[in-house]
Amino acid sequence: MNKLLNYINGKLVSPLSDNWLENVNPATGQVINLIPDSNKEDIHLAVEAAKSAFPTWSKTPASERSKLMLKLAELMEEDIENLALEESLDSGKPLHVAKTIDIPRAIANIRFFATAILHTQSESHAMDNIAINYTLRQPIGVAACISPWNLPLYLFTWKIAPALAAGNTVVAKPSEVTPMTATRFASLCIKAGFPNGVLNIVQGLGAKVGASLISHDDISAISFTGGTKTGESIASVAAPKFKKLSLELGGKNATLVFADCEFENTVNETVRAAFSNQGQICLCGSRLLIERSIYLKFKEAFLKEVKEITVGNPLNSGSRMGAVVSEAHMNKILSYIEIAKQEGGTILSGGSRLFPQGNENGFFIEPTVIEGLGPACRINQEEIFGPVVSLIPFDSDEEAVEIANGTDYGLAFSVWTSNVKRAHRLSADLKAGIVWVNCWMLRDLRTPFGGVKNSGVGREGGWEALKFFTEAKNVCIKL
Ligand code: NDP
Repeated sequence: MNKLLNYINGKLVSPLSDNWLENVNPATGQVINLIPDSNKEDIHLAVEAAKSAFPTWSKTPASERSKLMLKLAELMEEDIENLALEESLDSGKPLHVAKTIDIPRAIANIRFFATAILHTQSESHAMDNIAINYTLRQPIGVAACISPWNLPLYLFTWKIAPALAAGNTVVAKPSEVTPMTATRFASLCIKAGFPNGVLNIVQGLGAKVGASLISHDDISAISFTGGTKTGESIASVAAPKFKKLSLELGGKNATLVFADCEFENTVNETVRAAFSNQGQICLCGSRLLIERSIYLKFKEAFLKEVKEITVGNPLNSGSRMGAVVSEAHMNKILSYIEIAKQEGGTILSGGSRLFPQGNENGFFIEPTVIEGLGPACRINQEEIFGPVVSLIPFDSDEEAVEIANGTDYGLAFSVWTSNVKRAHRLSADLKAGIVWVNCWMLRDLRTPFGGVKNSGVGREGGWEALKFFTEAKNVCIKL
């Protein structure tokens, strides 16, 4: 069986223990390769390599770092077919989605930060004739970047690109469930000529290798995207060690549909918001709030569109939805559908596991639409992270905002209306890191990205990411 390797100090290497974990293709249930079951000794080697590489990399001119990263982006583009195929085999997402969204976006992340670093600026504060201050933004040291399985290479590069561009060296850990594209990425870094130790990738179990990484004394900054519980445990380890911390966590996002929305476009886009990537995006709109005067009409149109979604083999170009990421995750989603029934919800569409012909052992779930549950029910409060959406009627703007804000999360909301005043008012009143008006997941990489409340701490994206991965130093020169 093919073995994926760690990338430490410029080389692809086996874990020191020679222990391996099985990696399963969620669309077939078959083991497709083995990945390193790394432990703290592997992390130690990776951190040592990153530490040794830091003095040279941090002093390398930004233009040189940029050139290397652009070369890497070029190599990714040449290898897009393999990267997309691996992403699909690993995660169960449709191949065409990986090829047109995930991998191009990962390449865009590298290009964006490779060029952003050439156009940064810092402040200067003159004190009359007394002194002049300026701010130096310097790389921090060795950064730990930990990413989840839902958008594997996309979120992996979202972190390591700004970290490297800003002059840090990195030890990264992809999710153990989706290790493949990170391994190919390591080979492309070698091909691009990255100096040894600048980027290191250690594969393995989060609770073991991830925990060793974030507690390592030589890690100065941690950028983590994943579940809120994991974020909580990382914060409890990192805070007493005064490590810089950015946490992008879960969401229970609300989609607010008003009677004056552009009806057809809103139906199409809210279906996309609910079920893209099998509902496994932290930004997915899993609570669909609909103004009561159009509730029935909207529900009918929404259900009609949902029933047209084809779920099946991710390698077929006709599949709009593929498999969810693992058997354990499928069971978690199905258990939430059971909870919805126990709470008195009505399943309007879907609700079951699917066994597509030829992929009978894969982990597929029908796109599921539920109604009849109050805002306080578990289904409307807890992150399910699967193809499940709950419909909730509302009567006024105030009620819509109250329901939307009424969870522990605050990541990304969308508002669908043609009333400009309402759009501005609600955008200000909604407690979230992102509000989309008449669109969903429209991303400009220059904008701040992150959540409030249990959805995270800190912002990434554009200048915010470069700020996170640098330390500001005030230099004051007396005149
Ligand atoms: P997890 O929190 O389980 O894992 C995220 C990453 O952390 C994985 O690489 C995991 O490794 C690792 N990890 C697990 N335990 C530890 C630990 N104790 N110390 C250090 N690292 C650890 O999340 P999922 O992978 O299940 O991803 C889904 C979650 O991510 C959802 O809640 C979703 O909302 C959130 N998410 C948030 C986004 C945002 O920007 N706000 C974007 C995308 C997803 P392993 O997989 O090997 O266990």
